[in-house]
Order: sequence, then structure tokens, then C-alpha cells
Amino acid sequence: MSANTPAANLHHLLSCLSDYDPNSLPVAQAQQIIQQFVTPIDSVEKLAIRQALGRVLAADVLSGINVPAYDNSAMDGYAFIGSDLQKKATDHSDTTNQTLTLKVVGAAYAGRAFEGAVQPGECVRIMTGAVMPSSCDTVIPQEWTIEISDSKQATESKQSNPGNSTQIRIPATKINAGDNRRLKGEDLAIGTTALRKGKILRPADLGLLASLGVAEVAVQRRLRVAIFSTGDELRSLGETLDLGGVYDSNRYTLYGMLTRLGCEIIDMGVIKDDPISLEAAFRSAGENADAIITSGGVSVGAADYTKQMMEKLGDVAFWSIAMRPGRPMAFGKIQSNKSDQSASKGAYLFGLPGNPVAVMVSFYFFVRDALLHMMGAGAASTTSSTSLTLVPAISSAALRKRAGRTEYQRGIVSVATNGQLQVSITGSQGSGILRSMSEANCMVVLHHDQADIAAGEQVDILLFEGLI
Ligand code: AMP
Ligand code: MG
Repeated sequence: MSANTPAANLHHLLSCLSDYDPNSLPVAQAQQIIQQFVTPIDSVEKLAIRQALGRVLAADVLSGINVPAYDNSAMDGYAFIGSDLQKKATDHSDTTNQTLTLKVVGAAYAGRAFEGAVQPGECVRIMTGAVMPSSCDTVIPQEWTIEISDSKQATESKQSNPGNSTQIRIPATKINAGDNRRLKGEDLAIGTTALRKGKILRPADLGLLASLGVAEVAVQRRLRVAIFSTGDELRSLGETLDLGGVYDSNRYTLYGMLTRLGCEIIDMGVIKDDPISLEAAFRSAGENADAIITSGGVSVGAADYTKQMMEKLGDVAFWSIAMRPGRPMAFGKIQSNKSDQSASKGAYLFGLPGNPVAVMVSFYFFVRDALLHMMGAGAASTTSSTSLTLVPAISSAALRKRAGRTEYQRGIVSVATNGQLQVSITGSQGSGILRSMSEANCMVVLHHDQADIAAGEQVDILLFEGLI
């Protein structure tokens, strides 16, 4: 099945895979299955461009104008006819320093054009952004010119005609015809695609839209993601921590990561490990959300109702992924109403493990890409890939690594004196030790086939800064 053809049924898709082993699934294969199964939402809203920051563009934006709309000057200087530069070669009186003398016939300001005619041998004082006078195609920067008359006042004041006697001398060899001119449409020509569908709008894009005179854009509606934590030991903030109790931290890390992605979060709190509460939670989430993210209760052999309920209400696969931390994960689709078999109804389910670091790792490496795909991000664009970018860094110490699984270690990266990135591991790497994530500024990704890493060896890292 091709990556572009979404599968209607997960178990059907899995049965078509020849090398599928749910009990030892390589990270890359799990990522591929998820990506193949999820489909983008199809709901669009129009927003004022400021409100569209961070949202996914739902249609290509074509430029309705040329940007810039007219040829204009890139410098403060003098505009003249470029072919005048030829004259310095034939003007034997001036071959030693190759200068050209031009008569200043006016001035052009940004927002106030010079509307007169410019003849050969003449020039116009021009400011950055001012419309190029017709017939002029070249600008010499002001600092390269020498004024050779004494009517300076006239050229420096905001008068369009600075007096007939002003002349400038320019070094003709320092400049070519056409220099320092911004051409009409050189940023964006009328009718060309300015922004592609699927682009996540960043600050530069808001500016670009404004430069086209576009006040509103069509964006995908926000993805609705329901989250809840499962486990009888979990306590919500404000509750007393009794013996065996653990404060629910996963909903908070998930809240942070989902907020960064621009999702609308439906926080369903802590759900006790009891079949009635769980069924109600899954049904409600399936009705209201595009995706459900749970944590806890998906371990292999866990004697709880979370897995049972996922199985009962949906088309869900339970995996043990060849990774650390992480391993157990449930993925599939929950029907909002079991009698409704329509594949488009219900919500995608990501049943993450309970351990706090495992939740974050599983989110970044499985859920994030899937949600972006559902949001329509990157849909028609090859230039704005939303995939995580790993960068190489030198490991400052030896790292133990078992080949045959992907390991994610929390690291601190810095720039070494030789300019290379150098990474060291943050203390204890236990999957429950959230402090390791908090202290880290990157994740060291040790790939499936990699074995022990020697000190000084190169590893791939994922920088946390800038991660959405
Ligand atoms: P589980 O995957 O349910 O077996 O949980 C694995 C570990 O993660 C256990 O020590 C749980 O107490 C812990 N855990 C599960 N859910 C949460 C949560 N929401 N916040 C903090 N710790 C959790
Ligand atoms: Mg549990």
C-alpha cells in the first residue's frame, strides 16, 4: 500500500505487512504504519493573518500583485542610465581614473517619485525604495560619488529640483549597468505561488502575506486532541499524596507539547482503572476529538481495563516497540459508536506508556508527526518538511548501546572550542526520571543498528530549542 493511500482498517493494513512483529517492532516501521493510517482533517476556517500564526495553510496563496510593485532603488544614491557607463571608455580625457560626470536633475524619495525625464548624462538623487525614474536602470551608492558643484544644499533638501548646476562624479569602473536596482516582481511575480498549502505559518509568512495585501487566509481548523491519564495510583494536583500515590505529570507534559503544536486540548483528567469510567471516557473522546492520547496501562501483560477497553471500542494494535525508553504503545482508532463502522468517524488513538520520559519520547517520535499529518501540515510542500531534524554532534563520553533497538538518551549539547557540537548525557537515564528531560537541551538518538558509542564518536541529536 502506498504512503498516500490511507488504510481504512488498521488490522487489514497490518495483515498486509510481511515482516510485522508487534512484539518487537522497529521504530521506523511503527512510524511508517502510523503515517500510513492517519488522514488529514478536512475542515477549514478563515482567519485574520495575525490569528493565523502557527496554523496550517489550507490553500495555496497566489500573489495578486508584483512585489515590489515597481522597479526601485536598493540604495541611497543617484539613479542614471546604465549605458552612460560606456562613455567613460570612449572619453579619453578621463581614462586615468575612469570617472563619469553626471548632472543632477532632481530627486526621488520613497513614496514620492521623480516624474520628470532623465536624459543621457543626467542623474536623479534617489533614496532606498524610491521608484526608479523612467529610463534609469542603475543606482550608484551615494558614498561612492563626489559632488563637484557647490549647490549642496539643493541636493540635501527635500526639493525635487536641486538646481541646474549640481554635478556628481562617479567611479565608472566600480559599477555595472543595472546595479542596485530592485526589479518589479523580483520578490514575487504576480500570479506565482507565494505560500503553499500545508505550510505552518511563521512570523516571516505573516509579513509576506501582509506584503501582498492579504488580510485573511484559509487555515485548517485546530486539531482536537483529548488527553487522559489512567492508573489507580494517580493523583491530580490539589489532592493529598497518600501511600503509593503519584501526582499525574503526564497530562502536563502532554499539555505543553500539544500546545506547542497548536492543538485544541480536551483535558479529561485522570481516569480510574475501572471499566465503566474508561468506557465512558473513550466513548466521549471518540465523539469529540480527532485524536486521543492516553498514558499508562498499555504494558504487555498489564492486568487492567485500559487495553481491554481500547480493544472493545476500536481497531487498535498493541505494540512492544524496539526502543528505550518506551516499548509499549497502543495505536489505532476508537469508534465513537460501535455500531457506526464508518472509517471517518471516531478518533485516532495513541496509547502511550505511563513512564513520564517514555511519554515524551513516544510523543516526539510517533505522535507529533502523526498529528502534523492530521493537521495537513507539509501536505503539498516539499520545502517545508515538518519531520524532526537530527543534527550530528560529538559524544564527549562512551555510551553503552544495544544494537537492535533505538535508544533515546537525554543530553546537554554545547559548542566546543573547535566549533563542533559536543553532547554529554544528563545523569540517570531511567524512564521515570523526568528531571533528565528537564535538564537536557537535546535528545541523543542512537539508531536501531548502532552498538556501543566510543568517546569522540559522532551521534545524532534532536535539539529541543525550536521544537514544536
Ligand atoms: P504503566 O505504563 O501504567 O505501567 O505505568 C508505568 C509507570 O509510570 C508507573 O510507575 C506509573 O505510576 C507511572 N505513571 C503512569 N501514569 C503516570 C502519570 N500520568 N504521571 C506520572 N507517572 C505516571
Ligand atoms: Mg498503570
